[in-house]
Amino acid sequence: MTPPHSTPVLVTGSNGYVASWLVMRLLERGFDVHATVRDPQDATKTAHLKAAARDCPGTLALFRADLLDPGAFDSAMAGCRLVFHTASPLIVRGVEDPVRDLIEPATAGTRNVLHAANRTPSVRRVVLTSSITAIYGDAADLEEIDDDRFDESHWNTTSGENHQPYSYSKTLSERLAWKIAEAQSRWDLVVLNPGLVLGPGLSPNTKAEGVLMMVDFGNGYYRFGAPELEFAIVDVRDVADAHLRAAVTPEASGRHILVSESLSVIEIGGILRNSFGDGFPFPRNAVSRLAALMLAPRRGIPQAVARRNLGYPLRFDNRRSRTLLGMSYRPAAESVVEHFRQLLDDGLVSVR
Ligand code: NAP
Repeated sequence: MTPPHSTPVLVTGSNGYVASWLVMRLLERGFDVHATVRDPQDATKTAHLKAAARDCPGTLALFRADLLDPGAFDSAMAGCRLVFHTASPLIVRGVEDPVRDLIEPATAGTRNVLHAANRTPSVRRVVLTSSITAIYGDAADLEEIDDDRFDESHWNTTSGENHQPYSYSKTLSERLAWKIAEAQSRWDLVVLNPGLVLGPGLSPNTKAEGVLMMVDFGNGYYRFGAPELEFAIVDVRDVADAHLRAAVTPEASGRHILVSESLSVIEIGGILRNSFGDGFPFPRNAVSRLAALMLAPRRGIPQAVARRNLGYPLRFDNRRSRTLLGMSYRPAAESVVEHFRQLLDDGLVSVR
């Protein structure tokens, strides 16, 4: 895949876990990348991007932009034909103020980036990183639909400020993006809805949710057993690839679920034990639903969230991304193993 034109491309939140791989892939293919970060002077967030640019044919220009600042994206977007909007706060545990910490930055950011696109005559396509959490709220929602799996026709109707606020922030911002896109005709919107993203990151400083989840497997969080919980997993490199495909496939349109397969906590524990042995407190046994419900609040999971997710299957239809974007997915086990190996190499987990 080579750059289809000579204009630069914009990536918002470029230092993030997902966006870093996207920037890397764009640079490898010779794109000139305008990359926004909150603080370009913060080397802990930008060193890996600068290192990637040194070894690749593309070029990197860093711009300062905060989602909450209405004019912040204009200079970074100037002259760009493609905009990748990935920046959004991703906090699932211990949210202090859902509106301040999630909903306001996610929706204001979407509004500010897309209004900047409206002001920038060169923009022709915006690729938005949404989430499967804009498609469903809790695994129990599957019981309310006719199909045995979620697809792109489904929307999350069960999350709110006080129940799954991260999912609510993604739902509100994707809906807002469609509304702004449909009110104009110069640029089109292509939306990607990744599942839980796992796999090796490019920066050791990332705190993405998938990283914290994998650390849990190494630090004994599931030592006393695994709750009956499933995760719909996709590899971070496949998510980056999907962004590129969404950008350069002229007929791409609409939403795209990016999920390889679902694995339960106990299955992930088994995969990790097969690769890394018995020296880690990987879960061996499932705990009963009742015990898991009682444990949930101690682990920072609200009872209502536990009740609507424990013991329910979580299934997604990824046919649209496979057919229209040509995606093929790494097996989830590969992402799990490579991710855990990186945590070991980085010293974030160790044998006890
Ligand atoms: P991440 O590493 O936490 O990246 C989030 C990015 O958003 C960071 O660059 C962060 O900048 C930026 N950001 C947050 N608040 C901001 C603000 N007020 N102003 C400017 N930038 C701000 O998480 P990620 O996993 O790469 O997530 C990237 C996108 O993928 C998000 O839209 C997320 O919702 C979506 N997604 C992720 C997953 C997953 O499992 N990881 C699954 C589905 C969808 P700082 O580094 O400065 O905070």
